[in-house]
Amino acid sequence: MAALLEVGRLTMRFGGVTALSGVDLAVGEGELVGLIGPNGAGKSTLFDCLTRRCAPQEGRMLLAGQDLAGLPPHRVAGHGVARTFQNTALFPGLSVRENVMAGAHRHGRAGFWAAALGRAAGEERRLRESADALLARFGLTRYADHPPEALPYGTTKLIEIARALASGPRLLLLDEPAGGLAPAEVPAFAELVRRLHAERGLTIIVVEHHLDFVLALCRRIVCLERGHKIADGPAEVVRRDPAVVAACLGV
Ligand code: ADP
Ligand code: MG
Repeated sequence: MAALLEVGRLTMRFGGVTALSGVDLAVGEGELVGLIGPNGAGKSTLFDCLTRRCAPQEGRMLLAGQDLAGLPPHRVAGHGVARTFQNTALFPGLSVRENVMAGAHRHGRAGFWAAALGRAAGEERRLRESADALLARFGLTRYADHPPEALPYGTTKLIEIARALASGPRLLLLDEPAGGLAPAEVPAFAELVRRLHAERGLTIIVVEHHLDFVLALCRRIVCLERGHKIADGPAEVVRRDPAVVAACLGV
């Protein structure tokens, strides 16, 4: 069966810095893949390329056979790719509920307001109900009418995931989702991601700095180092790979 995501020979340079160098990656439908590597390895850049925030100089990216490279950034979500950011990027000036509703719109915040003007009441209600269902799923109902700026960082990370899910993605890219969580919150959070994966059959790539988190969560691990893929395989093999241990020591 063809992979849901196929990345081939992907190269992304920023001036003299090669952030990704000929990276190949195939991810099957329904996989939960951990992406590790030291700071600056190119993990976030891979997500930036897949969501068209960056335009790679070489290589190809296909989602279910659809070429992502040719899509304008605002159409990526409509084609099934959603992400969260290493540093949270919620829309200020919108409530938590409105942030999640905006995630359902492929033009994001601007689209949310433009569409709000012309949206039929039934459509508005449907968006609101599905946003509220997602908030309930994440235990965030009590924050629905709050501005996100006032909330703890760990909570904003959860809201970002809810917003990413609102677009109904086939591929969810989580960039250091456990960052900013208190250590005691991490196991419950890992369980939440595991359940999202199991219940929705979502394909997920999760970048994480906490190796324990990612090793416990993902059966398959991919390791990047300085833009190169240096390992890709079962977690129990990759975690013992000398090149990975050397690259990630101290991570
Ligand atoms: P990681 O997420 O693995 O820590 P990044 O993908 O953020 O690594 O960064 C990979 C490399 O690319 C780093 O050297 C970083 O400085 C560089 N880089 C990333 N984004 C940009 C950008 N927008 N402009 C210039 N350099 C960038
Ligand atoms: Mg990063």
